[in-house]
Amino acid sequence: MKKQVYLDYSATTPVKDAVLKKMLPYFTQSFGNPSSLYTIGQESKQAIEEAREQVAALIGANPKEIFFTSSGTEADNWAVIEAAEANVKKGKHVITTAIEHHALLHSGAYLEKKGFQVTYLGVDSEGMIRLEELENAITEGTTLISVMFANNEIGAIQPVKEIAEIAKRHKILFHTDAVQALGNVPIDVRELGVDLLSVSGHKIYGPKGIGALFVRKGVVLPSHLHGGAQENKKRAGTENLPGIVGFGAAAELARTGIGEHISRVSGLRDYFLEQVEARIQDIRINGSRERRLPGNANITFEFIEGEALLLLLDLDGIAVSTGSACSSASLTPSHVLTALGIPAEMIHGSLRFTVGDFTTKEDLDYTVECLVKNVEKLRGISSVSKEKGW
Ligand SMILES: *Cc1c(COP(=O)(O)O)cnc(C)c1O
Repeated sequence: MKKQVYLDYSATTPVKDAVLKKMLPYFTQSFGNPSSLYTIGQESKQAIEEAREQVAALIGANPKEIFFTSSGTEADNWAVIEAAEANVKKGKHVITTAIEHHALLHSGAYLEKKGFQVTYLGVDSEGMIRLEELENAITEGTTLISVMFANNEIGAIQPVKEIAEIAKRHKILFHTDAVQALGNVPIDVRELGVDLLSVSGHKIYGPKGIGALFVRKGVVLPSHLHGGAQENKKRAGTENLPGIVGFGAAAELARTGIGEHISRVSGLRDYFLEQVEARIQDIRINGSRERRLPGNANITFEFIEGEALLLLLDLDGIAVSTGSACSSASLTPSHVLTALGIPAEMIHGSLRFTVGDFTTKEDLDYTVECLVKNVEKLRGISSVSKEKGW
């Protein structure tokens, strides 16, 4: 069988066996509606509350502050749109960043269409926002700041605690998209002082189609789905029972294994970067060396097209990404790398490699060999085309 190497853990992760095992009974035997009063309904309800505790424990929250959603995207939309709309009496200004996930950027665009003003903060060459720029952007009418915890393309980790302090000083709500940070960075919502925080199951070895929003006690956030009394009357719709159970199980594994996960994955990532730097010339590592997610490596290979390299790697059984999964079907340069000030032609030669719990050193050695071979091939073609004036 052809070798398969998956290096796109930031796009999604496989469900761990222990997680799947916990989920399975909830499709068939323990399928009761959690809102039903008889025994199998109440057993479902109990399973949901256990998962709520597990997700809460991973971020230092009270279980009552966790509301399950269909995805990280839904959590982002709910937090940002409803928090902005609930505070229109105070003002119609929201501050976010230019490097957010589309779940956030497109919620911002929606708010702009509805008459809100949205400021998109720029970042430095390492992908970090500047705190004084944030503070300067605040106006009388600012009601919400939303800055992602960790970026999905370059892995940059923002100074969340400092941002929360600024928001608090100005009495502004603070939301953070922690979908990439979850399980990869220790998170304690109390210590950080965030008001709203989005997470998702499928980025931490749980199932797809399940997310959650942390809403700090005391924060007023209206519902955005209207129906039954699920999720403490905050988020209507019959619960995704197996998904919630799986998210809980994955959160539990992430919490107990976070130290080992971070050291193992970052060690493999550093090994990979060393090998690539030693073996391939004219490359550039994008983003910060220190303040970045453990598994993330974003590399520009000069003089070649990232898409072409991605396809050649795919032929070798290696799965990587150009920019983020959402922009992988389009040729517009990544908005994140653009915000870092990287020129368009360099962006087109950039690939994102994300290492995870099932990655081995052998996978990375194989990937480096294939990179050396394919980069050489593509650079050969491009130098021929240059000579012939194509
Ligand atoms: C994946 C991701 C999302 C979206 O989460 P889904 O559960 O896939 O909708 C949002 N923000 C970031 C930073 C992500 O990486």
